[in-house]
Amino acid sequence: MDGDAAPGRLVLIQELANSFDVRRGRDDLAGPRDAAGWLRARGLLGPQLAVTAEDLARLHGLREVLRRMCLANNGAELHAADIDALNVLVRDSDMRPAFTVHGVGLDILSSGAVGALGQIVGIVYEAIRDGTWGRVKACPEDACNYAFYDTSRNGSRVWCSMAACGSKVKMRAYRARAKADLNMGKTSVDRHRSGAQSTQ
Ligand SMILES: [Zn+2]
Repeated sequence: MDGDAAPGRLVLIQELANSFDVRRGRDDLAGPRDAAGWLRARGLLGPQLAVTAEDLARLHGLREVLRRMCLANNGAELHAADIDALNVLVRDSDMRPAFTVHGVGLDILSSGAVGALGQIVGIVYEAIRDGTWGRVKACPEDACNYAFYDTSRNGSRVWCSMAACGSKVKMRAYRARAKADLNMGKTSVDRHRSGAQSTQ
């Protein structure tokens, strides 16, 4: 799973999605203090600003929205409710388009945790605009969902890694097929047997 970090600030989306480790059930953002430390370390929250329980719930909600969007980048369905949730954060964080000497960007007028959430949503906005968003994917294995950046030439990577999930899923599919074949075999034998009985 090395060497799959998203470029620039897009890596923050990946880090947020992976702050809940589905494999181990470990949450790096379990409490408001954890969340404040995490946001401060990434320059998203000022040193004096706190995260409330309500902010934390919104951060957790955004994390799940982003995970589902990363799954959608890997072929899953994109939910309209998740897009609505992003638009609510655009509004609540007072996000506005802005001209800069470098071109255009976004201004986020809210400070505090809601402003931090707005900045995270702003990163997604910029990535969709510059075409990098579709490469931020989540592993489709339910017990994993690890977020990675697809650096393959044609953007066709599916699994976090072939060793961790790809081969496991293939093996499961193989076993399911083998079992189905076995059951079909059994059914035809049973049918044959009952057929043989009825002729007696
Ligand atoms: Zn995986």
